[in-house]
Amino acid sequence: MKVKFWGTRGSIPAPGKDTIIYGGNTTCLEINLDNGRKVIIDAGTGIRSLGREFESREDHVDIHLLITHIHWDHIFGFPFFSPIYNSSTRVLVDGYNSCMKGLRYSFDNKMGDGFFPVRFDELKADIEFINKLSHGSLDIDGTTIDSALLHHPQGGLGFRFREDNKTLVFLTDNELDTKEKSFSDFIIFCQGADILIHDSQYRPEEISEHRGWGHSDYQSTLDLALKANVKKLVLFHHAPERKDSDIMEITVSCQNLIKEKNSHLEIEAAKENSVLVL
Ligand SMILES: [Zn+2]
Ligand SMILES: [Zn+2]
Repeated sequence: MKVKFWGTRGSIPAPGKDTIIYGGNTTCLEINLDNGRKVIIDAGTGIRSLGREFESREDHVDIHLLITHIHWDHIFGFPFFSPIYNSSTRVLVDGYNSCMKGLRYSFDNKMGDGFFPVRFDELKADIEFINKLSHGSLDIDGTTIDSALLHHPQGGLGFRFREDNKTLVFLTDNELDTKEKSFSDFIIFCQGADILIHDSQYRPEEISEHRGWGHSDYQSTLDLALKANVKKLVLFHHAPERKDSDIMEITVSCQNLIKEKNSHLEIEAAKENSVLVL
């Protein structure tokens, strides 16, 4: 299994000289399964570049698209994902129960004069909502995907991929509260993962001001990874104001905390265009 980050930023795109290393595009990941299938997670602004890459390869696009939730930073790249204007494209949508509503909303909505010149029904691609993950597992040619409810305003889903003996967990827009029962549920969900990609939007000193906003600080994220015996933790959903130098400093702080605990947990921050191999 390979994971490519097309967008790592939280809340709003943050292009510019201070975000060159970790990237300014919002959430989009490409998961290449060993069986050849492609699973895309979220349609933040990173999905635009992914669409251009598909076009340059002139591949027939046949993908699963899993949507964690429909906050705008996770869906507003969808109208700019060029393969949806091609009749040979097939997109099997799954994820949080409102995901199709969110994808349609960018095109068709009853508010004001609308936000986009094209209607959803004019898209040429075959886009089908398969709606499995809200009810159980999704099996893609031998790879099993399970979901967990996120602790996030208006809800959402996180995903766990199991392929042979490898496990990848993706939990973004998730507020960890180590005192709540949900924390132990997340420990179970992440147990033994080879890679955990988790929301770490805030520094520990920032979290009290942002309780209830649905994001985590890096200390709680680290606690989760340690308690769940994760092998590698990838910090994700970088705050829009976070500069590359800030993210590097946060990563080093996390690595120092790990050294103090004599743990072998590896830690890095998600970088746009980077690839992880499991
Ligand atoms: Zn978000
Ligand atoms: Zn959100």
